[in-house]
Amino acid sequence: MIAYISDLTHISDTIATSRIFPLAPAYIASYAKKKIPNLTVEIFKYADDLNQALVREMPDFLCMSNYSWNFNLSYAFAQRAKQINPKLIVILGGPNFPTSFSERTNFMREYDSIDFYIYGEGEEGFVSLVRKLMDVELDVSQAKIDSDPLDNCCYLSNNRLITGVEKRIRDVNIIPNPYTTGILDDFFDKPLIPIFETARGCPFSCTFCYSGHESLNRIGRFSLETTIETLEYIAKRVSNIDELICADLNFGMFKQDLQVCEAIAKIQKEYGYPKRFSAYAGKNKPERVIKAVEILGGSWGMGSAMQSTDPDVLEAIKRQNISSDKLLGFVDYAKLNDSTAYFELILGLPLDSKKKHYESMRLGVDTGLNNSKSYQLTLLLGTEIASQESRVKYEYVTKWRVMPRCFGIYQILEKTINVAETEEIVIGNSTMSTEDYLDCRMLDFFVDVFINSNWFREPIALIQKLGFSVFDFLLFLKSSPNLYDETLYDIFLQFKHLTMSDLFDSKGDIDQFISDADIINLHIDGNRGINEMNECKALCYKNIDIVFDTVYTGVISFLEEKESCTEEITNYIQELKVFSLMRKLPFDQEKRLMQRNFEYNFKKIEEKKYFIDLSDLEIPESFTTKVWHDKKQENEFSNLVRIYGDSLAGLGKIIQTQDMSRFERKFEQFPR
Ligand code: SF4
Repeated sequence: MIAYISDLTHISDTIATSRIFPLAPAYIASYAKKKIPNLTVEIFKYADDLNQALVREMPDFLCMSNYSWNFNLSYAFAQRAKQINPKLIVILGGPNFPTSFSERTNFMREYDSIDFYIYGEGEEGFVSLVRKLMDVELDVSQAKIDSDPLDNCCYLSNNRLITGVEKRIRDVNIIPNPYTTGILDDFFDKPLIPIFETARGCPFSCTFCYSGHESLNRIGRFSLETTIETLEYIAKRVSNIDELICADLNFGMFKQDLQVCEAIAKIQKEYGYPKRFSAYAGKNKPERVIKAVEILGGSWGMGSAMQSTDPDVLEAIKRQNISSDKLLGFVDYAKLNDSTAYFELILGLPLDSKKKHYESMRLGVDTGLNNSKSYQLTLLLGTEIASQESRVKYEYVTKWRVMPRCFGIYQILEKTINVAETEEIVIGNSTMSTEDYLDCRMLDFFVDVFINSNWFREPIALIQKLGFSVFDFLLFLKSSPNLYDETLYDIFLQFKHLTMSDLFDSKGDIDQFISDADIINLHIDGNRGINEMNECKALCYKNIDIVFDTVYTGVISFLEEKESCTEEITNYIQELKVFSLMRKLPFDQEKRLMQRNFEYNFKKIEEKKYFIDLSDLEIPESFTTKVWHDKKQENEFSNLVRIYGDSLAGLGKIIQTQDMSRFERKFEQFPR
């Protein structure tokens, strides 16, 4: 018996849009191999590899993950493979699945190439199903007639939905470690980031999230020994990848997480890997999260996904946040250790409004969190927020769009098939007009360009030192288009245009749109389906000198308006601009501005993290300053390009996901 299990990713500019190891299928595969020794399992991440395998040999079971970013691709394979081999058993699983009985029935009727759907944890459901099918010699109709409902599994029988109870594995340690079984070995040769899991489940109930379901509230934990074994296995095999991801939903919140951090720190010391660690930080116990960051020596950028700071919004989405006092702990740590601290919001949540969004963002920016991001609200299938009741209650204005970078033209069993993934986003609700939504998006873009990535941490430190609100400075910039150069003005216009373009009223409309091969080609060529935040920010990066002009002129104008701009400050700001730009020009602009004379002692000023007293500026000296990228920075950046690509979209993704201050040029100065 052969099973192919895939966790497919779209490929954009030859780079995978999902850049992580296929961990979930690997767990299912390693458990299935343990329980059903005569089952041969192969795992796939890339559509081309799956296609070649299907051409070479049809499996008995084609099993595919279903996430919002790969469903149409998985289903295209399911449909085509079933067309060629009607006896093939198609099983899908994953969180992108409705929860109500009637919606599940409709889903299974609409996507009738799916024989069985596994929901919740996949391991036990998959094994029970395969055993059942083996008992009836793979006769699907017989299995459906014979069977009592199987746990975690549903299917149509005589057009009626049969659905089992959703159960979780009591002790996840009965699942063999997928890494050490060797089932993931081939993926170490690909530009993919290793991911591991130490705990499953989330005790919170956020209504917008798949993991907020009651069934996932209990935490299941892998043993520390398994985690250490996994870390060592990965560290010994990884090459040209600096990152490691933990799939836990609240890392750092549990006391066992500190032991995991100790284990990672030990691995870092021994293998020089991972240089960067990523995980969703726990929504509770910020002191412990900070402790975890400390142990990891700053390789993990901590912060808090607040989603909103407004109590009414938080109540409506059943969200608990850490207090703003506790947030300050993150800021203090980040300042002391030159690391980033993120702060995340979702725009357009129930009861959100322009005022509430501005206030939420103000907290992030003025608290000093240097990576404040806001995401659009996506109505995910099966989440409470996407229910009919919630739609009626909060009067969402929604639109459908193609998911950025989730499209392509694929060869599937000798047929060319166009595929694009789509999603439903909220662009207004009972308390936020679409006009307000668009204004908030512009604000979010301003925050992203001018605060995040630390491009302007030096003048921002001056504004803070002088006692002004950085958020007010942003509002000043936002309302002063006279400060923008034409190029920057065009980028802002483009961002606004892209935010509202190619949005469709219904799923039917967007499905019609993406059925046209020319449209898919326009997406592939980079003319459509753009992540406007990432790509417009990448454009700013490519034109960083122009953006610098605007910000530094803006700082002077802002301080003048506050009657706080002296001649000394103006001189300092002008020199600071050139100095800072030398260090932050992109890699491909390496030859420019490598050496320059300055009147200020930037070594000393940097030691104070740019929080300088005005008296520091009184006696300018004279220095020759040189800047350069070292080998470590160059290697790290080229490893990122290997994962994300060098297109504008790839650059945008790098800028959005990395702490760009790591790539600021080193500098040395000599008295003249
Ligand atoms: S805390 Fe995070 S993972 Fe848990 S339900 Fe909320 S958003 Fe989902």
